Amino acid sequence: METILVLAHADETGSALTRASLEAVTAGLELAARLSAPVTIGILAADAATAASVLASTGARLLAVSGEAFAQARYATDAAACEALCRAAQATIVLAPGTSRFTRVAAGVAHRLGGFIDTHITALSGTETVEVSRWFYRQRVEAVLSRDARPWFLLLDAGTHVAFAAEPATAQVEQVAVQLPEIHTTVSGFRAPAEDAQTIRPDAKMLFVAGAGWTKKQPDGQIHAAEAGELILGFLHATSSSLGSSKSLVDQGGEGEPVLPFLTHMNQIGQTGATPRHAKGLSTCCHGEEPHVVGWRFIADRRAISLDPNCGWTRGKADVVYIADAFPVMAKVNALLEAKKA
Ligand SMILES: Cc1cc2nc3c(=O)[nH]c(=O)nc-3n(C[C@H](O)[C@H](O)[C@H](O)COP(=O)(O)OP(=O)(O)OC[C@H]3O[C@@H](n4cnc5c(N)ncnc54)[C@H](O)[C@@H]3O)c2cc1C
Repeated sequence: METILVLAHADETGSALTRASLEAVTAGLELAARLSAPVTIGILAADAATAASVLASTGARLLAVSGEAFAQARYATDAAACEALCRAAQATIVLAPGTSRFTRVAAGVAHRLGGFIDTHITALSGTETVEVSRWFYRQRVEAVLSRDARPWFLLLDAGTHVAFAAEPATAQVEQVAVQLPEIHTTVSGFRAPAEDAQTIRPDAKMLFVAGAGWTKKQPDGQIHAAEAGELILGFLHATSSSLGSSKSLVDQGGEGEPVLPFLTHMNQIGQTGATPRHAKGLSTCCHGEEPHVVGWRFIADRRAISLDPNCGWTRGKADVVYIADAFPVMAKVNALLEAKKA
């Protein structure tokens, strides 16, 4: 019989689990129920007892490594902590969120345990054996994998499961001792881009896509790139949405055309860009051509604002299309959002 371990880690507060970790908890509980297998949740946090309180109702065995050494992401301490949790749980299947923190250490931990790892898992299935899904070739080919090797580590893509939520309660947590190696790395602090510069937010509820129309000549014969930038940033600021772009818009920089300074190729959505998993998407000044829309594969609720009534969005690629000028529409939307805040 399989034994399932879900690895979870705290956010920067050190006492609350990350959303991606809570999604992995849901995946673990669902898999355990399907296989009638025991499930353990292993927590890595500065204050694991508080972080574990939300898991009290899961019925899972709770293991934790706690302390200042685990407040920061660092390979040596995180790998030692995950290894200790895995050894204590004796798990055959280890699920972990594909966060930057765990992505960095999971393969090393799998190697230390003589196991095998698969990454970018989007679904778990099977009742007799464990089957996992992942996409290849820019999300065009979906593969279903199963393996005999154990322990089998599976890194889950964010946004593929509902985050586990429950009222916090006192949880029974077993502390696991970790033999720390000699530590050569000291985390002295963070240097993060300003809030407005950090426009790619995988955890955001909504994706806002800017298309090349924002920097094209408008009906008055002029380009309004500065105004476009203000409207887009104003919306992002008010909603904390993630910013995506069409390829044409991010390519313009190299072609000497007006650019929005906060956009890079990292923002590009589509066949040769990203395929994010936000619940909702709003496309603006973008034509909705297939190579772009293929990047919206996982976005269920889609809206678009376009001047062109024959654009791709109107051809069945969006749920709602507003045939309108995005400049006044977004100005009005931003004003309404501001008024709501006040
Ligand atoms: C191999 C290959 C791979 C590709 N990969 C990608 C990819 O990964 N991602 C991607 O995005 N594209 C990709 N493309 C390019 C794609 O085919 C399109 O060229 C691109 O998506 C067009 O971008 P756009 O819609 O922003 O620009 P445009 O086609 O220039 O459309 C601009 C739109 O803005 C509208 N507009 C203008 N002003 C306003 C206004 N004031 N209000 C409302 N609407 C307005 C116009 O009506 C127009 O519909 C790829 C192409 C190829 C050949």
